[in-house]
Formats: sequence, structure tokens, C-alpha cells
Amino acid sequence: MSDSSSACPNLLLKSNGKFVCLFSAILLLSSRISMCKSMNLTNTSWSAPIVWEGTFDEEVLEKYYAKHKITVGLTVFAVGSETDLDNTKFISSADLFFMAGHKVIIYVLIDDLSRMPWIQLSRLRTIKVFEIKREKRWQDISMMRMKTISEHVVNHIQYEVDFLFCMDVDQIFIGKYGLETLGESVAQLHAYWYKEDPKEVPYERNESSEAYIPIGMGDFYYHAAVFGGTPIHVLDIARECLKGIMNDKKNSIEAVWHDESHLNKYFFLHKPTKLLSPEYCWDYGRMNGLYYPNIKLYWAVKDYKNLRVIT
Ligand code: UDP
Ligand code: MN
Repeated sequence: MSDSSSACPNLLLKSNGKFVCLFSAILLLSSRISMCKSMNLTNTSWSAPIVWEGTFDEEVLEKYYAKHKITVGLTVFAVGSETDLDNTKFISSADLFFMAGHKVIIYVLIDDLSRMPWIQLSRLRTIKVFEIKREKRWQDISMMRMKTISEHVVNHIQYEVDFLFCMDVDQIFIGKYGLETLGESVAQLHAYWYKEDPKEVPYERNESSEAYIPIGMGDFYYHAAVFGGTPIHVLDIARECLKGIMNDKKNSIEAVWHDESHLNKYFFLHKPTKLLSPEYCWDYGRMNGLYYPNIKLYWAVKDYKNLRVIT
């Protein structure tokens, strides 16, 4: 034992009769649990994977799901004539890249069925279109998605799909968005904040709001443009967020980032089982010198002036 003890003085532990060098054990563990080549976090402190390109084996996943067939749902809202599904490439790009080769049902929630364009889909893809009531303010359109999602999961989605994603319409798929993203409850790291200390991220800081997260608490800042999981988990996410939103309304409070603030509170209290790297929701408009070669989805350029008419 003299050899190894001289290599790691004072750091020798005895466990089950075997000596372990604490220093090398810590090194090995930390290299396993948290970092990949680009030094991005690949695991959370509660052991949920953070999916980056290169952290999964596509072949193994495809083989597994070839034997365990699944259907994946995708909800998207297009409310108001400013949200023109013809112009946004969300659905046509999802057709190409979202769960390619697997059954997909795209649920479109729209306030005027006559605005629904004809979109030619590939095999294994179905589109279901539902008319919903239009809220007046864009903030309410965004927040009340949680109510509509809950109702549709309860009424039919839970019987139709194995996994469900809920996404903003102002995004475009450009790379394979596949089986590696599936999980019980899936959260999206926000492209602006994923390297930031939680003290600096824009959580709701009003103590009276249901979305309140005290300074110094919190894990990551999640983007409400993408969340998902099994239908039962998505139902829980949507119901809890809606509860927070409605309680805030009763108290005339609106969280700083609306449904996103409540979603962050939810994932703070109920840790997601899988996190998606910013490759899964990237903003080319604010790259800060960063370049990732495997972007799968990015934010479309938005015409805020026309989209956010406050009535
Ligand atoms: N949305 C909509 N009509 C609106 C506002 C929002 O259909 O007038 C839906 C749409 O799916 C949109 C999502 O709600 O992508 C969230 O709103 P937005 O993308 O404007 O929020 P941001 O990404 O800027 O936070
Ligand atoms: Mn958006």
C-alpha cells in the first residue's frame, strides 16, 4: 500500500477492506457526472440528464422504440390573425424533423378555423385542429394556454399519445428532434440563461406572486416555448401553472414572464426528469459568439410591433 499512499497522501479511505484514493475517485466521478467535451453540464444535481448532441445513442433509441411503438403529441397555439400558420414554418418544419419516422399528432389550437391553411404532411403524421376562444391581451393568450392544454389532455390527448410536447409557434425546426428528448417531465434550458447563476435569472421576485422564487434559490431558468412529458405529467404542469396564474389574477398580480414564471416555479418545486440543451431551442439573434453545429429548433424572427397589440 505504500505506493498508492505516497501518490495520494492523506486521501486514502478504507471501504470494505479496500483502499480507495479519494482524490482520483472524486475526479472520476465529476468527469462522469457533469461535463462533456464542450464543458456544458450534462447532468443536474438531482441526476436528470441534460440532453446535448453527443450525449445519447440514437441507434439504441431507435432500436428500442422500433419494438415499443409510440405516438408523440405536439400542441401549438395560433391565436389572432397576426399568427399566420401559412407564414410560420412551425408545422411544415415539424413534419420534417419532429420525431421523424414515428407517429405524431399535431394539435393546433386556433381561434378561427377559417385561418387554418392546408398543410401537406408526411406519413405517420396527423393534424387535429380545434377552435378556441381568443383572449384579448397577448399575455392572457399565452397564459391561458395552460387551461386549454389541461382540458385537451383530460378530454382526449391522454388516450391518444404516449408523450406530449407543448411548443410556441414562433419557432422553426432545422435538425432532427428525436427520441432522445422523451421523458416523464421535460424542461427546456433557456438559451439566454443556461450558463447563468440562478441569482441572476429573471424569476418572479414578488413575494405575493405564486410564481415567487427567492433570490439564491432555483436551479435553471427554463423556457416556456418548449415543455413536455407523459400526458399525465403535462397535465400536472399545466394545472399547477394555471392554478398559480388564476390565484395571481385574484390578487391582481401578473408574474414578470407570465406563464413562463409559473413554469419555472413548477420545475423548481417538481424537478424535471430530463432537460434539453439550448440546441433544442436556440436564438440565432443573440449568439454571444457561441456556435453549436447541431441546432434542432430555433426562434423565428418576430414582428413584436404587430404581434403584441395591447387592447
Ligand atoms: N400566441 C398566439 N397569439 C398571440 C400570442 C401568443 O397564438 O397573440 C401563442 C403562440 O403559440 C406563441 C405563444 O402563444 O408562440 C407564446 O407567445 P409568444 O411567442 O409571443 O411569447 P414569447 O416567445 O415572445 O415569450
Ligand atoms: Mn415564442
